[in-house]
Amino acid sequence: MQFDRSLLLHAPYNLSLLILIMEPPFINKEKIAALLPMHECIDVMQRMFLSLANGECVQPLRSIMRLPDKPGLLGMMPGYAKEMEVMGIKVITVFHNNSSFGYPSHQGVVMLFDAQHGQPLMLFDAEEITAIRTAAASAVATQLLSNNDADVLGVLGAGVQAEKHIEAISIVRNIKRVHLWGRNKNNAAVLSNKMKDKFNMNVIVENDAEAVAKNASIICTVTSSTQPVLRGEWVNKGTHINAVGSSTPASRELNTAAILKSKLFTDKYESLFNEAGDFLIPQKEGTITERFVKAEIGEVLTGSKQGRMHPDDITVFKSLGIAAEDIFSAWHIYKKIKN
Ligand code: NDP
Repeated sequence: MQFDRSLLLHAPYNLSLLILIMEPPFINKEKIAALLPMHECIDVMQRMFLSLANGECVQPLRSIMRLPDKPGLLGMMPGYAKEMEVMGIKVITVFHNNSSFGYPSHQGVVMLFDAQHGQPLMLFDAEEITAIRTAAASAVATQLLSNNDADVLGVLGAGVQAEKHIEAISIVRNIKRVHLWGRNKNNAAVLSNKMKDKFNMNVIVENDAEAVAKNASIICTVTSSTQPVLRGEWVNKGTHINAVGSSTPASRELNTAAILKSKLFTDKYESLFNEAGDFLIPQKEGTITERFVKAEIGEVLTGSKQGRMHPDDITVFKSLGIAAEDIFSAWHIYKKIKN
């Protein structure tokens, strides 16, 4: 539908009107939540990982501008997906202590362009796409790497990603119980009640991370901690771990022992070798080398590399978060709007 721009002359200055006439259009959080349900996003992430493994995505390392005088950063994540002939960029701010001021920790925009002529197609709220696609990517890894009968989920962290991971992992495994720990017990209790109300889940809030790990067969670490919250000594044989929270060389959520007793998988080697403290800190200590890494998730999906080899293996999916996840998600939403 073509908007009559002359209406603007008579209209009050109104943000929603501006959004309505924006070209390219802006897709807000609510629309994204409706158009990118978790189960669909899991399929989208699976296709994305396959496309990445087949060499059909171009994706330079993200570039990060840190603020000199305060915590907070602006991240720029460009990428090109040959399969759909689209390119895009996510521009996202990360302010980890935002919750105390009532703002989300991740805010930004995903921009999608056609790759034939460079035409801008659509803009999307990056907070919501990031929230959904990150958990969906972990779900793909969990489906591939965890034992089929893994049914107790442990979650360290009680923020946005904790919530989305509980939803996503429950889609790919028959989760009977969730053990949850948060630094702030009240936040963990709020999330627990929300999950009970929304999904009728059995969620137990634990006093410490150790109790979570000792109960779980799948663990998601989804904190913004820079120091390990999960120790290898606590992890049961056969556990699958999604290590999601840290994405800078100096921060990690898993201690060296946890990495050493695991088979390590990732979304993208280049990101792992440049951005992941969970890998880079043990490497700097001299305990592991790049050869320690088993595979990218896409390589396990194509069958070119092996995933779990034994029920007792401990597997770690080190998620860094890549632009292809945002571009494939944005394209999925774009197609639904256009059709
Ligand atoms: P939120 O801000 O919503 O939640 C952060 C959680 O981390 C809160 O539960 C917070 O606890 C907890 N936390 C912060 N500091 C510590 C600490 N020192 N020790 C233990 N817990 C701590 O963020 P999100 O849920 O959106 O993101 C979680 C993490 O995942 C972030 O680091 C984020 O950057 C990362 N992320 C990774 C992505 C990827 O693709 N791999 C994509 C998106 C996010 P409290 O409740 O007390 O505040």
